[in-house]
Amino acid sequence: MHRLSGLRAWVAWLLAGTLVTVGYLFVPVDHWLSWVIYDLFCVASVVVILLGIRRHRPAHRLPWLLFAAGLGLWNVGELMFTFYFYAGQELYPSPADIAYCAGVPLLITASLLLVRGRARGSDRSSLIDASIVSTGVTLLGWVYVIGPLADDPTLSLAELAISVTYPACDLLLLCIAIRLLTLPGARTGSYWLITGALVSVLVADTVFTTLISVGGQESSVVADVFWMLTYLLWSAAALHPGMARLADRQPARAVTLTWRRLAVLGAASLLAPAVLAEQGVNESTSIDWAPITLGAIVLFLLVITRMGLLIRQTLTQADQLAVLANRDALTGIANRRCWDDSLPERLREAQRTGRPVTVALLDLDHFKRYNDTHGHPAGDALLHAAASAWQAALRPGDLLARYGGEEFGLVLDGLERDDAALLVEYLRQVTPLGQTVSVGVAIWDGTETVSELAGRADAALYAAKAAGRDTIVFAPSPSTAPVDEAAVDRPSTRATMR
Ligand code: GH3
Ligand code: MG
Ligand code: MG
Repeated sequence: MHRLSGLRAWVAWLLAGTLVTVGYLFVPVDHWLSWVIYDLFCVASVVVILLGIRRHRPAHRLPWLLFAAGLGLWNVGELMFTFYFYAGQELYPSPADIAYCAGVPLLITASLLLVRGRARGSDRSSLIDASIVSTGVTLLGWVYVIGPLADDPTLSLAELAISVTYPACDLLLLCIAIRLLTLPGARTGSYWLITGALVSVLVADTVFTTLISVGGQESSVVADVFWMLTYLLWSAAALHPGMARLADRQPARAVTLTWRRLAVLGAASLLAPAVLAEQGVNESTSIDWAPITLGAIVLFLLVITRMGLLIRQTLTQADQLAVLANRDALTGIANRRCWDDSLPERLREAQRTGRPVTVALLDLDHFKRYNDTHGHPAGDALLHAAASAWQAALRPGDLLARYGGEEFGLVLDGLERDDAALLVEYLRQVTPLGQTVSVGVAIWDGTETVSELAGRADAALYAAKAAGRDTIVFAPSPSTAPVDEAAVDRPSTRATMR
């Protein structure tokens, strides 16, 4: 209910404000009523921001208080402007400009606080994206707005300072809006309204500057309408319930390079050559080589950095994927895929070095019964515990993999038969939770294939099961006869290996 009434308030204010703004167009220019409507509307917007703060009690109040203070200073400027108009003193720059200029740092600080709050924990890619677009638009602003003003010999120093300050601050607010747009996070109505407000300052200022240069009193009414819309967006953002969480830290999420984002970044990166081409085509008297060169260099460096981050991200993901692809999810040890990939490699390496290779297959005894008695989750826990116990007993170069179900594969590197027998026997003993395991072992003869070697280990395992389980059987070498009783290490013979 409270949320609904909060929702209604900002919609009502947006509608009422739009009506007043449109109505303002129909009031005769410089009629006292137009001054009253305009000034009252601007003051009302600041009051609405304060009401929004009271109503929604944002955790981060400072940005909103600074917005109210900044726009409050603009209100002072509007009222001073009205005063000077009625006093017949139309000065430029006027003392009202000081109030306007004083408000801007507060608005910029507030916007930066919003961005900082939302950006905490976000990745660097979104910052680079914002920098690329901001560099592009700053280059445009520099070449087409600020540069010509700076070169205008008719302006006094005070006029120049004020004239340059406005577009520079507008650009800064636009860059902050761009940063907001590139950040991941919740995009509430308040988010869009505040982003719109930041952009609308530049729009209103551009309309104002353009119309003033065209001249005509009616034109100033159109500019006023854009300023009223700026106030309206700002105050509606504060009345929207989303304002309470606008400056909150957003859940960390990597920025996705969508086609739209890529298109915007591509367009922004091409602005430097585009400006150069425009000046060349229009045969400008002087080419702005300095800002264009600087802009191009910064854009190149940013794009290269973005590429570097992307490549690093891809490599990291590839590494993570390789680990995932080769690991058994239940036990955390190597999986069958890793076994299939490593075994041929290990045999090739052994062929080169002449070191012995022992392959063993370990199969938990009566595991189905264990599952039936204790339940499947307990069976899972046993698989995990057995894998951990065996893995802990092995050396770094050995490979233990979950071959499938309750069956494990083992490759021992460089151990002679007796040492391998001791190690496998130790594994049999450390099998946890009172469970037993049967093991089939085959020592590579130096020529047989992977499947032949695994086949011999499997036959030995089969023999171990047949011999009563809880035992280790070494497969005879390939040249000798199939597994027979003589090759079976019965529980009684295990004692010699302990
Ligand atoms: P044997 O001593 O002859 O090896 O008997 P066994 O019961 O261990 O072998 P069998 O092949 O009859 O049964 C294997 C059981 O392993 C059946 C299956 O439900 C169980 N199993 C396979 N994978 C998993 C798993 O991931 N988790 C659990 N809890 N059980 C599994
Ligand atoms: Mg089994
Ligand atoms: Mg089995």
